[in-house]
Amino acid sequence: MDKKITHEVRVRFAPSPTGDPHIGAMRTALFNWAFAKKNKGKFILRIEDTDKKRQIEGSIENIIEGLNWLGLNYDEGPGIEGDYGPYIQSLRKNRYIDAVNKLLDDGNAYMCDLTPEELEKMKEEQKLQGKPPGYNGYSRNRSREDLEKSKKKGLPIVVRLKVPLSGNIEFTDLRRGPMKFDLSKIDDFVILKADGLPTYHLANVVDDSSMLISHVLRGEEWISSTPKHLLLYKFLGLEPPSFAHLPLIFGKDKAKLSKRHGASSIIEYQQSGLLPEALVNYIALLGWSPRNDKEVLSYQDIIDNFDFEGLSVSPSIFDPEKLSWLNGVHIRSMDNETLIKLAQDTLPKEPDNKNKLNNKKLSKIIPLIKERIKSIDEIYPSIKFFFIYTKPKKSIIKCGTLDDNEVKEILNKLVTDLNALLEKDNKTHADIEKLLRDNCENLGLKLRDYLGLVRNCITGAEVSPPLFESIEILGIEESVSRIQDCINIL
Ligand code: GLU
Repeated sequence: MDKKITHEVRVRFAPSPTGDPHIGAMRTALFNWAFAKKNKGKFILRIEDTDKKRQIEGSIENIIEGLNWLGLNYDEGPGIEGDYGPYIQSLRKNRYIDAVNKLLDDGNAYMCDLTPEELEKMKEEQKLQGKPPGYNGYSRNRSREDLEKSKKKGLPIVVRLKVPLSGNIEFTDLRRGPMKFDLSKIDDFVILKADGLPTYHLANVVDDSSMLISHVLRGEEWISSTPKHLLLYKFLGLEPPSFAHLPLIFGKDKAKLSKRHGASSIIEYQQSGLLPEALVNYIALLGWSPRNDKEVLSYQDIIDNFDFEGLSVSPSIFDPEKLSWLNGVHIRSMDNETLIKLAQDTLPKEPDNKNKLNNKKLSKIIPLIKERIKSIDEIYPSIKFFFIYTKPKKSIIKCGTLDDNEVKEILNKLVTDLNALLEKDNKTHADIEKLLRDNCENLGLKLRDYLGLVRNCITGAEVSPPLFESIEILGIEESVSRIQDCINIL
């Protein structure tokens, strides 16, 4: 269904600032961004803030921050003015009023003075009669003069579009193909509210047209708005863009995606140790695929492969485990230096400790944990023991079924042997490994029990990065001192 693209591609992400940006919104942004990049077009950010009641302070900043963090930079938008600004709808009022006046003058729209309470009552009555509730065309055939009088009296006046009472409206969705909507099912919807601000429908059409948007890629939840928009384009004598509606995103229980499915706002993801490239990779696969077997995708892979054919028509399912797996994959493919920098950001600023982590130490530690972590947030807890020693509880200073005195004896011997190793030239992790394995064999202990005891003493925890390497990095002296502490606990 990919049409040959002949015009300059100009696409937009048009969020309403009604909360923190969520997965679905960022997926829309990503697909628009990738489509623009692939076609050497422009990606525009437009803030749709005409519903002032639903606006939440700080959301515009968070949307911009989310886009920046994910690397989805826009070419035009707030702060990056282009030729078609301003890019915030509340700053574009005159354009909407001009459009409303044209529609009124041409007889394609009309004013209505029904109060919200009267409208509610109308709907209640319709429901009682078993009819679908909706606006019944109350002012459709009243004179403009009559309604102007109501306006002068101070009654709340809205403007509604005069939707044809019969016929169809058709368009070809770039993924789904031909779509047909019955106009008799569409109410005379409001285009200008009583507060003088346009509704989403009007502002969206006026702006997509005046910003020369070539393609509208938006969530499927907007598909029922498309016939309304097409009517507006027609009445305003404007050329509509092409449309592609992106599949819905559900939780595993097939319900609308929400927090309880493990989906967080982008801002929360940013703070939770997720890599932006992993999140972008994951959301790219929500309802789209490069149509090869690849699941691990870079930004460039997404750009190169993005097309409408790859969009699925059925809903996609959000799977937090897969996101976490992909994050691990991206962490592993990162070069150590970048990972060390990221790790540093997660460490407490000034660890008040003699074993303070320096870069040299970190560059030895990071490769040890790189294979195991699934989130940047896991770095600090898994390496904390290198510089802050928390003595283990007595209950984990144990070795199989041996009693405390026997454990003490084993640890004393280990202290002696490690001290002896200190005197030698060779004290790499391989030497440490040999020493521990030999000791274990000579003592006739199970390797798991013995190494578990040593690990618990030295790291203070039951899980740690590979033990022999950890001892080498920590240093034999520090390890001996920790074992000594444990002997004293017994
Ligand atoms: N303001 C709408 C939203 O919040 C935009 C929908 C569209 O892209 O047309 O998603």
